[in-house]
Amino acid sequence: MTRLFRAGRDRAQLELGFTAAAPRDADELLARLRQLGLTRIKRCRLTRNRNVMVSFGGGELRVHEGYLNAPESVLRAIVTFVEGRTRAERRAAQRVIIAHPIRSSRPPARRQRTHDEDLEIAEKLRAWHERYNTRHFHGRLKQVQLRVSRRMKSRLGHYTAGTPGGEPAEIAISRAHLKKHGWEETLHTLLHEMVHQWQDETGHTIDHGRTFRAKAREVGIAPYARRVLATRPGRAEGSQTLGRRAARDG
Ligand SMILES: [Zn+2]
Repeated sequence: MTRLFRAGRDRAQLELGFTAAAPRDADELLARLRQLGLTRIKRCRLTRNRNVMVSFGGGELRVHEGYLNAPESVLRAIVTFVEGRTRAERRAAQRVIIAHPIRSSRPPARRQRTHDEDLEIAEKLRAWHERYNTRHFHGRLKQVQLRVSRRMKSRLGHYTAGTPGGEPAEIAISRAHLKKHGWEETLHTLLHEMVHQWQDETGHTIDHGRTFRAKAREVGIAPYARRVLATRPGRAEGSQTLGRRAARDG
């Protein structure tokens, strides 16, 4: 930072000029992140997927466009998310990144709602959510929107965190999954998504990493993102995604 100050200039003035220059595109953002210590990344791409804030892998960094105007503390956190040496360091950085409210140029997708004929299933899932909450989470999980999805074909379910804009968190469960695999599997998926809800509400990253695996074992479900139902190849090693949604794929 010291090299940014030139002799004979007023410090406040320099800082003002410095903060005013927000990056306008991916290249400028990459240049800015490099100034802040980013070294591992070769390319940067801006995304509009509202459920993914930052992800990297294979030398490429993908950042939601809503971070172009992020304050320096958040940009520094992105650098730490990529370059951080310790788990604790990266986790602290993830919290800073997620706390930044992103504004997208794309209007938020309208949430689907449960089909009238599936309301009974949704109600049953809600009752199970309450039961599992008491049994495995000391009743501390918040009430959450439970939706039955007729659109979800390949995924079994997902948890989506609420947004700073006021969109509530939800757990969606695939109707096709229930029809094909039955209640027992569906309840397994519900509990899987509740572990993500627990991650979200306790300040952990929503992922299938170490905290997920430990909690999954604790509540008695398979500690993986995918089980025998898996059909899609796993993500490339060494890549990481920081987002507000986690899906159980099938
Ligand atoms: Zn999951």
